[in-house]
Amino acid sequence: MSGATTTHVDGVPFQDSVTHSDTAPGSSLQVLPASFYASRLSHASLRRREDGIRALLPLESRPGLISLLAGKPNSETFPITSLQFNIRDPFTPNGETTMQLSEEELNIGLQYTLTSGLPDLREWIFGLQERLHGRRKGEGWTVTVGAGSQDMIFKGVNALMNPGDAILVETPVYAGTLTIFQALDAEMIEVETDSHGVCSRSMREMLENWPSSKPKPKFFYTVPYGSNPTGSTATLERRLEVLALSREHDFFILEDDPYYNLYFGSSSRPPSYFELEKDQPEVGRVLRFDSLSKIMSSGLRVGFASGPESILKAMDLHSMAVNLQASSFSQMIALKVLSAWGYDGFTAHTARVAQFYRQKRDVFEAAMQRHLAGLAEWTSPEAGMFFWFKLLLNEPGSGVEGEGDSEYIIRTTALERGVLALPGATFYPNPRKTPYVRASFSLLPEDQVDEALRRLREVVLEARKA
Ligand code: PMP
Repeated sequence: MSGATTTHVDGVPFQDSVTHSDTAPGSSLQVLPASFYASRLSHASLRRREDGIRALLPLESRPGLISLLAGKPNSETFPITSLQFNIRDPFTPNGETTMQLSEEELNIGLQYTLTSGLPDLREWIFGLQERLHGRRKGEGWTVTVGAGSQDMIFKGVNALMNPGDAILVETPVYAGTLTIFQALDAEMIEVETDSHGVCSRSMREMLENWPSSKPKPKFFYTVPYGSNPTGSTATLERRLEVLALSREHDFFILEDDPYYNLYFGSSSRPPSYFELEKDQPEVGRVLRFDSLSKIMSSGLRVGFASGPESILKAMDLHSMAVNLQASSFSQMIALKVLSAWGYDGFTAHTARVAQFYRQKRDVFEAAMQRHLAGLAEWTSPEAGMFFWFKLLLNEPGSGVEGEGDSEYIIRTTALERGVLALPGATFYPNPRKTPYVRASFSLLPEDQVDEALRRLREVVLEARKA
């Protein structure tokens, strides 16, 4: 830690790591110092103190140590004595493999663990991130496991934002974050997107015309692959421009990426922000969220955040106060499956999951062509599980104002006809009329897709006549 300095903010010590104490031997990456974050974390997270018990928990793993520390229940009193489950390769009919938790694994899974997650699972994730994003452990970032990525997003936002802060939000945006932003009374500055992802040029214009007296936005929130709801994936050029802007205008990038592994586009997958950051003059502005929901199980509730240590520490302090940690049991099951796959197995499995969704997309799109050609417009999604399409409602003489609004049509008429989708207005921070609709193609078999879109066709035809 040669030359490290300690800054105090609100009485909280932040060790300055600008001296590359976080840098792996041989690495030339410049890591933003802890003092950088001290002035950027939310007041609430700066006020949080470590739970005196949990703060000492990591010491329990010291060899030879006898711990009288934690109020852990004695697992001899627990009723579950073994856990066995089968895993299959969903894409080949070649049987199943039985997995059995060892006594030690079972005990770990049934007991409290560290707030940041099961140590072995975190190690696995470090290796995965190096493989997928070229980010090596020890190079100024760390990992925390959460109860799904939603848990991590909530805590990441709360670690950075004070009530009323301005933030940049790509629009349309994942509706599950709007409630987080709204509760913090965020000033949500909409950044438009198109079929190539976020419009970085309009983001630049907006930031260059930002009033000098007004604090700059805290972060930019984005779903860069197979966006929920638009299905679009941001191009490399746009990602690079956003990264440059984040330095020029001093904001963080919240990369919410549950569909990274569901990329099935025809061109190669552009690198993540987390990866691209490595080539920036310094690293530490990207907070990345991953999820096992779409590739292993959504019910296990396992997701993880990767990013600057100071931010993840603030998120861990939040967890200590809210839920102590994500479920050890779920983490242990996830770890067992991931270890059985290995990194190559993970890549092979996720590639086949992506192909599965590609086929689903093709089936859905063929039915769109059959039933909605001339009645709707869309761009074929390259990742994820959503179609985002514009209903063409304003036929000459239809009396529809502007481009029309899908809200009533989807919530009322379509529902009466027995088809449920999401009106586009759901995905905008500020109220508006929009002719867009989000339809999910992940679940339905072909005959039901066909019937759903046939019903939608009738609804649109009716609306155009009204
Ligand atoms: N972000 C986006 C963009 C999502 O679509 C979802 C799930 N719908 C989440 C986060 C939350 O996923 P998880 O199950 O990992 O909490």
